[in-house]
Amino acid sequence: MPFFRPSIFRSECDACHKPFPVNTGGVCVRCRRILCPDHLHGSIARRFAIALGAPMVCVACRSGEAPAATVGREGR
Ligand SMILES: [Zn+2]
Ligand SMILES: [Zn+2]
Repeated sequence: MPFFRPSIFRSECDACHKPFPVNTGGVCVRCRRILCPDHLHGSIARRFAIALGAPMVCVACRSGEAPAATVGREGR
């Protein structure tokens, strides 16, 4: 039987710089920032949407306030 270890892997949110267990947050597919659940999902409803297959897009990207991504589209 698989043994669930406590979250020993922690990461730091790129938005608020709080450390959080990586399994609660994630990486936004648009801005590629590593974000805590507050900044990635923003709400429980959104967490469910992602669990059901919605793209992992952070709160800021969804509201159009994310900093420009460093990869991908350039200029105008
Ligand atoms: Zn955060
Ligand atoms: Zn984002």
